[in-house]
Amino acid sequence: MFSIFKRSKEQTSARELKKYYKTVEQINKLEAIYSPMSDDELRNMTFTFKERLENGEQLNDIIPDAFAVVREASKRVLNMRHFDVQLIGGLVLTEGNIAEMPTGEGKTLVASLPSYVRALEGKGVHVITVNDYLAKRDFELIGQIHRFLGLTVGLNVPMMEPTAKKEAYNADITYGVGTEFGFDYLRDNMAHTIGDKVQRPYHFAIIDEVDSVLIDEAKTPLIIAGKMGANEELHRIAAMLAKRFKPEEDYDFDDETKATSLTDQGIEKVEAAFGIDNLYDLDHQTLYHYVIQAVRAHVMFELDVDYIVRDDKIELVDMFTGRIMEGRSLSDGLHQAIEAKEGVTITEENKAQAQVTIQNYFRMYPKLSGMTGTAKTQEKEILEVYGMRVIQIPTNRPRRRVDQPDLVFEKIEQKYEYVAQEALRRHEKGQPVLIGTTSILQSEKVASYLKKYGLDFQLLNAKTVEQEVELISEAGQKSRITVATNMAGRGTDIVLGDGVEELGGLFVIGTEKHESRRVDNQLRGRSGRQGDLGESQFILSLEDDMFKRFAKDDVEKFRKKMTTNDIGVVQNKEVTELIERTQRIVEGAHFSMREYNLKLDDVINDQRRIVYDLRDKVLKNEDIIPLLIRMMYETVDFAVRENAPEDKDVIEWDFDKMEKTVNSLFIEPVIVNRDETKVKNLLDAMDPPVKQLKAVIESFEENEQIMSVIPKVMLSYIDHMWVKHLEQMAHLKEGIGLRHYQQEDPMRIYQREGLELFGKNYQELRRTIVEELVAFMKNITMNVEE
Ligand code: ADP
Repeated sequence: MFSIFKRSKEQTSARELKKYYKTVEQINKLEAIYSPMSDDELRNMTFTFKERLENGEQLNDIIPDAFAVVREASKRVLNMRHFDVQLIGGLVLTEGNIAEMPTGEGKTLVASLPSYVRALEGKGVHVITVNDYLAKRDFELIGQIHRFLGLTVGLNVPMMEPTAKKEAYNADITYGVGTEFGFDYLRDNMAHTIGDKVQRPYHFAIIDEVDSVLIDEAKTPLIIAGKMGANEELHRIAAMLAKRFKPEEDYDFDDETKATSLTDQGIEKVEAAFGIDNLYDLDHQTLYHYVIQAVRAHVMFELDVDYIVRDDKIELVDMFTGRIMEGRSLSDGLHQAIEAKEGVTITEENKAQAQVTIQNYFRMYPKLSGMTGTAKTQEKEILEVYGMRVIQIPTNRPRRRVDQPDLVFEKIEQKYEYVAQEALRRHEKGQPVLIGTTSILQSEKVASYLKKYGLDFQLLNAKTVEQEVELISEAGQKSRITVATNMAGRGTDIVLGDGVEELGGLFVIGTEKHESRRVDNQLRGRSGRQGDLGESQFILSLEDDMFKRFAKDDVEKFRKKMTTNDIGVVQNKEVTELIERTQRIVEGAHFSMREYNLKLDDVINDQRRIVYDLRDKVLKNEDIIPLLIRMMYETVDFAVRENAPEDKDVIEWDFDKMEKTVNSLFIEPVIVNRDETKVKNLLDAMDPPVKQLKAVIESFEENEQIMSVIPKVMLSYIDHMWVKHLEQMAHLKEGIGLRHYQQEDPMRIYQREGLELFGKNYQELRRTIVEELVAFMKNITMNVEE
């Protein structure tokens, strides 16, 4: 009962949908106007719309006509006429919300509407897909509509030449994968000339499979790294230590925040192993870092689940697709720690030069929108973080998939036996079966049971995207059995083979509940597309990972009153409640973890914006001289305030340091009168040299040589500062785990100290820039005078 109540609360009401239906009615009426038009007349509408917008009309004024034009174009070039519900989806996207539409409802075609309308504004639209294959497919297919209507369409894929990238970004509509857009952003902010930048300012993005992009893939940040040699020996010793460590006795690990710290006993062991007497000594910071990473490699990463060892290399596994993440590696020495753990060759370490999370990348768009089959359960989070609402769009045809109640076995072997037997039964009558798992390891387990029954099947482990798409798209063929992790081949249509509909359509078996109901729904959604017949069932056991990890005591209690039938199926109805409760706990834990990480990242995010803004000004060579003068003033001001704090006594002021700092800038040194007691007077004393310096900086403008050097010098210092700052922030993050016992919220510590660190580094950056440029100028003038 509880679940029904819950579900109804999560549904979009008919009342909410009413306003969309009104617009749909308008669009339908307009068909009579646009369908008699010639191709040229239709194409001309694009210019008419653009003009109307330029003349101050709002998007809403042109939406019905623009939608009607796109539908007409689609009829002519693709022979597909948008269903009414697809128009609703398009309306929801255009206004910057999420359209929840089950698989097979034609989301690809839906995207043609908002991308057209928002491209009319002339600032570019990004259409984000989950892989390059889909980006190319949509670019080619849906792009036909837009090209027909006179818009340009671009495709952004990895490894493209900068000129090609720029062209793709300058198109009205650009297709590509989210991570590549994020990497382009980072690379643009490492560019040395403004001409090297490929992106335009952000305007509007449509994210396909939006939940998987913003929620599932948001855990690993995008990092551009430079290589540096790792200390192999240290990694190996640290790995050995970590192997011998016992949880809680030697180290603490917080499952939720991933905070890792050593206990006193652990610290003593490290000190003994390396023959040092105080690990907390600043000199041993690196050592501490290696040990912590070794512990993490040990507790957070499991062989054949999170990574595999192949050809003397560690290859990371995408836990959602079960696919190898080609070329991806962990940063900050974690990858090397795993290499040491597995005894393979230790590679060079990646040092982050630029990083951003997918979430923070997309939050830079003034307006976002998205499509997915499953987001309603996550609406609160999506609304909080991205300001998007989730609107459920009615299906074009009524849904005919039957979702069977979960079947729960007492023992895990009983579960797999049953899964294989059930697959056999369905297979024998010709019905296709898709078995979903939560990891590669589990896929292999299922495979071994299927083999036992002599069944032929397709296993989608460690396959390329193309292979995956191909195998998944064939999963609806007669008698076919396919084993895949839940997310494999997402976005691929499973079309039923001949005669399969009569056999009940595709039968989907889930072998474990996923960490979120959303992902379970995705798996079910593989079946019953566009009103097809279909069936789904989760076959579970009380020994499943989820129960072991999150509901040990509950299950223990439950076992006492439980009864099972002869094959081990739990008979008590309360088991449903147990599953739901556990899943809710897991969802909650994951949500707080994402929230925590986002908060952590927010600290760096604000700083990144400041640094990148500064960088941009320099790249554009805009008002460089006033900028330098401002930096100079701030440096002097800071030197005074830092060394002569108002809240301290004059005796405590550090005049020497103050003089040293400012005189490194000034042409003629200032000697501060130490009898003066007020800060105001201190600044007055510096007024003449400041004025002199200002004049020197202003004179830069007349010197071509120095004007050409300034941006280069500034850029190199900015970039250097940012890399160093990122590293220090990473160490700070690591360190906050250490402070557990300080009874202070680690987040607060991180926020406060992160801010301080940035203030310090930014101040140093300003001072160095001014100092270097003045020194450079002095040199030139001296050479001239000689
Ligand atoms: P989704 O991404 O929502 O799962 P797809 O975009 O893959 O769905 O579309 C599913 C199938 O439906 C595709 O074969 C597509 O060509 C077809 N389709 C979508 N919209 C229409 C339409 N309006 N008329 C005819 N066929 C359509």
